[in-house]
Amino acid sequence: MFGNIRWRIAVPYAVLILVAMGALAVYLSQVVRTAELANLQANMLRQAQLIADVVGPDWDGMASEASDAQVQAWSEALAVRVTLVAADGTVVGESHEDRTEMENHLSRPEIQQALADGEGSNIRYSQTLATEMLYVAVPVWQARTLVGYVRLAVPLDEVAARINQLRGTILTAAFLMALVAVALAVVIAERTARPVRRLTAVARRMADGDLDARLYVTSRDEVGTLTQAFNNMGEQLRQQVVGLQTERERLATILEHMADGVLITDASGRVQLLNPAASRMLNTSPAEALGASFAQVVRHYRIIEVWQQCRQTGEQQVAAIEVAPAGKEPAGLFLQMVVTPLFDSPPAVNAQSLLVIFQNLTPVRRLETVRRDFISNISHELRTPLASLKAVVETLRDGAVEDPPAAVRFLDLADRELDALTQMVEELLELSRIESGRVPLRLAPTAVAAVVAPVVERLRPQAERAELALTVNVPADLPLVLIDGPRVQQVLGNLLHNAIKFTPAGGTIAIDAREADGALLVRVTDDGVGIPAGDLPRIFERFYKADRARSGGGTGLGLAIARHIVQAHGGQIWARSKEGEGSRFYFTLPVVESEPLAD
Ligand code: ADP
Repeated sequence: MFGNIRWRIAVPYAVLILVAMGALAVYLSQVVRTAELANLQANMLRQAQLIADVVGPDWDGMASEASDAQVQAWSEALAVRVTLVAADGTVVGESHEDRTEMENHLSRPEIQQALADGEGSNIRYSQTLATEMLYVAVPVWQARTLVGYVRLAVPLDEVAARINQLRGTILTAAFLMALVAVALAVVIAERTARPVRRLTAVARRMADGDLDARLYVTSRDEVGTLTQAFNNMGEQLRQQVVGLQTERERLATILEHMADGVLITDASGRVQLLNPAASRMLNTSPAEALGASFAQVVRHYRIIEVWQQCRQTGEQQVAAIEVAPAGKEPAGLFLQMVVTPLFDSPPAVNAQSLLVIFQNLTPVRRLETVRRDFISNISHELRTPLASLKAVVETLRDGAVEDPPAAVRFLDLADRELDALTQMVEELLELSRIESGRVPLRLAPTAVAAVVAPVVERLRPQAERAELALTVNVPADLPLVLIDGPRVQQVLGNLLHNAIKFTPAGGTIAIDAREADGALLVRVTDDGVGIPAGDLPRIFERFYKADRARSGGGTGLGLAIARHIVQAHGGQIWARSKEGEGSRFYFTLPVVESEPLAD
């Protein structure tokens, strides 16, 4: 009941009014009773005196039948009980009882007081009449001699009734006032509580996420000020939340698109956040990882070790880690891992959130390997012809010059080595020119068949010499391609040349072309030695040779040049192969957009 502001105001008011009026009723009845009694007492004393004055002269005739009638008459006239008492205490006249049976009255307090003070009064309970009575007494004198007393008595129930009536009136008034007070309090409370209730409703809506909820300020009092402050607070809150949301979205976008893997573990070591890059590197998914323990997610002892170290020391840890092949990385991942405690405090060991960042250094590492291999390969390629030239020169100097036929043979050998060197240097130059984009392509709409034919014609004798069957399947109705003809011939030449070189006698080589996904797809298939799976991703690198023993006179540059030419045309080149079963090389060329028909 007191939970409601209405009753909290109304009840104390009502109680206060009732208590105040009750106290007033008690006080007033006391005052009125005292006044009434004083008044009654004075009246009765006067009447008693009057009777005393009358009975004084013929007191001696008292206690007779005539006097009994007289006493009765007075009693009726004055509506009081009249008793006449002799000086010795004997009752000599009585209006209400049988005087002959009454005891001596000298010891009655009012008589004693009358004897002492000239008048006496007393209030006491009368056993005979079973009610409270007021008694008054005055002495009766006969020529200066005390001969007796006149005593009057009256029941006080009338006075009590009057006082009760007064009390009743006051209490009824108090009750009515309390009712009015309660009604008034309810109205006041209602007016005070209504805006508070509205504020509560709006606060609830805000808590449920409706940050645009506002109140209309209707008054200038405290509630109005509170409403205004509340609205301001709502606005501030909305701005802050919007700011935070923007910030969060920005952060989420950054995390989503960054190349580095980001992962956060909470104090208990469970994964709380993981961005797509981290999912890829760890070969997991957010659904699997979130909430799982770090060790379950990464499944790599070194990574777990470094993370544990940071957890125990509370200090940043950096480590380079090689991870076994995962996902699309066939050669394994090379990661740099940085683990940092997320918050400076609390510094409690094993109870911190940790930020783990993975940087994928695999491409950097691969580039390094490529460069290292390139240098070692080029040195190797140069050393063989140079050594053989050196040998030729030394042989000539050692006397072969004197033997003209031998000298000519040696010079031929030197010439061939020089040709090979020259070819290699030219290919290198060509590659570097294409790579740097210094060779502009002369693009023209061309039929693929027109590109394939001259290459096949040029290399067919070589294929026949190697006892290989060469088939060409290029339909005449293929769309035109927008290419630099001689360059694409070079690509096809390199592929075909390789196919001849790496297919043993009796094998088959096929060239075909078809349209696929809006581009033209050219394929060179052989059933030769094939390429080991480990070498396949690298054969398009400069100087890369899968099998040095078998690749013979090649420089290892042919496929690198082919790749650059195809890419310069906006196409793609790739290979599929199985060792011992043969290889398939594919490349795409852009198709000429069909011109809209002129009107
Ligand atoms: P090369 O001048 O040595 O042929 P390429 O760049 O043309 O250099 O080829 C690189 C390597 O790819 C070759 O050494 C060979 O190991 C492999 N290769 C290329 N084509 C084929 C093929 N058709 N069959 C088997 N291996 C091939």
